[in-house]
Amino acid sequence: MIEKAEAVVLKTLNHGDTSKIITLYSREVGRLKLIAKGVRSPKSKAMGLFQPTRHIQVIYYAKSTSDLQLFKSGELVNGFFGLEEDFDRLTLAQVMVELLDRSVEDEESHPRLFQLLVDSLSRLSNRKIASAEAYWFFHTHLLNELGFQPHVGRCSVCRDALDEGGSLGRGSSQLECVKCHQPGQDSIFVSGPVLKTIQTLSDTGWKDVQKTNLNARERRTLWDFLWQFTFHHIESARGMKSLKVLRQLYG
Ligand SMILES: [Zn+2]
Repeated sequence: MIEKAEAVVLKTLNHGDTSKIITLYSREVGRLKLIAKGVRSPKSKAMGLFQPTRHIQVIYYAKSTSDLQLFKSGELVNGFFGLEEDFDRLTLAQVMVELLDRSVEDEESHPRLFQLLVDSLSRLSNRKIASAEAYWFFHTHLLNELGFQPHVGRCSVCRDALDEGGSLGRGSSQLECVKCHQPGQDSIFVSGPVLKTIQTLSDTGWKDVQKTNLNARERRTLWDFLWQFTFHHIESARGMKSLKVLRQLYG
């Protein structure tokens, strides 16, 4: 059966001499894996479509018994070319697609998640928009969509408000206040303003966040919190290749 899908390229893998296997995240069916035959030959016009982060439209032959479908043709919807001139933004976009790839193992359509990805890539490729904020918005909303929304308002033990900040222990996704927390080697202390920012990012629409007022140290804590929290829920995110590059940029 011939099917059509709108999708973002998550990753590609060379196959044989001239083919590629492409993993996509589509609006219609969620995760979608295609084999594109002959696409690496010099005559192929489709090659440029299959860069990770590209927003494309594909036509493919679908077989319900297989998890690998056959690519027929495709066209570019948005190349987000603004990313290519900016290494930081390109790295953040790669982290977005790689994190999404690790988050959606099963093939299931989730149109809101697809739209979040497309909107976030579009913001990231616009240089007038703060890049880290565009990324954080994506990451916190991805967690919400997956059902892992962080609870940053109250201590998980005594339920006191965390206005003064809270600590996240290694291997935990629960915050504890200063009174309840037993200091451990690897715990992260997250200050009140950072928790408030995470709450705002996670709870509001893009037009209400756009920019945050955190200093350099607070921004680093926010990054640390996001990843530690995420590793707890999405174990395989630890092995992301783009994370190494991200750490060099945002240390
Ligand atoms: Zn407490």
